[in-house]
Amino acid sequence: MTLKDIGYSPIASKLDEDERKGGVIPLLLEFYKRLLRIQSETEHLIGTPKIGLTVEAVSERVQTGVPLLTFDELHLDWTLLQETFSNVAAVFTDYAELFGKVPDDAARPLKKEMVRRWFGGLALPCEPASVMEDMIHATLKPFLASYSRTLLPMVNQERWRRGYCPVCGGNPDFALLKGENGARWLVCSRCDAEWLFQRLECPYCGNQDPDSLAYYTDEKMHRLYVCEKCKRYLKAVDTRLAMSGTLLPVERLFSLDIDRQGQELGYNPCGKASA
Ligand SMILES: [Zn+2]
Ligand SMILES: [Zn+2]
Repeated sequence: MTLKDIGYSPIASKLDEDERKGGVIPLLLEFYKRLLRIQSETEHLIGTPKIGLTVEAVSERVQTGVPLLTFDELHLDWTLLQETFSNVAAVFTDYAELFGKVPDDAARPLKKEMVRRWFGGLALPCEPASVMEDMIHATLKPFLASYSRTLLPMVNQERWRRGYCPVCGGNPDFALLKGENGARWLVCSRCDAEWLFQRLECPYCGNQDPDSLAYYTDEKMHRLYVCEKCKRYLKAVDTRLAMSGTLLPVERLFSLDIDRQGQELGYNPCGKASA
């Protein structure tokens, strides 16, 4: 089972179950739960996107390292997108204590130029830009995930092996160790695509020097990969050690404690620039 096979309901019921067991859902998980519901509803309405690429064009892009989805190839239903954005903005506003004040721009329809800049990894012209980035990310996720489901099976995994997503060009924010020999698969922070990557290389800066790459483990199934060269970290789950029935998106959320540890050790998350 992969991340993208799992809809909102099993995740929500897992969270509810933990809540019933007496665990208090921290504010951040409560926030994610509301976000997941919005994203799941939007994804349900999107359906299967049309893809214009031929098999030859796909192979050419994989060979040359060009992601399969450029901004101009992304056909967005802007009515649905604006509705999703406004729902997302409402959740961020309700949880302002987690991320800070929501930018004034959030009260207006999202501009295409803003989405284009976000997609291209460019700085956003608003304050605070990081909250706007997070809101656009949350809004676009169901749209990009629907493309990812269609485009990812067309990628020859052995030929890609790059540090960014073969579908949308996004950064990985999670990794999965799978199979008998524990091959490392990266997971895209933007579209949930999974792709095969070297075990001994930092996906953010390309560092391959074993002396400056390391990982920590909690002796269960979590790992924290760190790179001394760019000071970034990557969370991972060893799926060989995961109990059956483990839901990976839930693991992504429940590993927030590992994010805290990574940041306490002085590393930065998910390809974000060094502080
Ligand atoms: Zn992606
Ligand atoms: Zn690095």
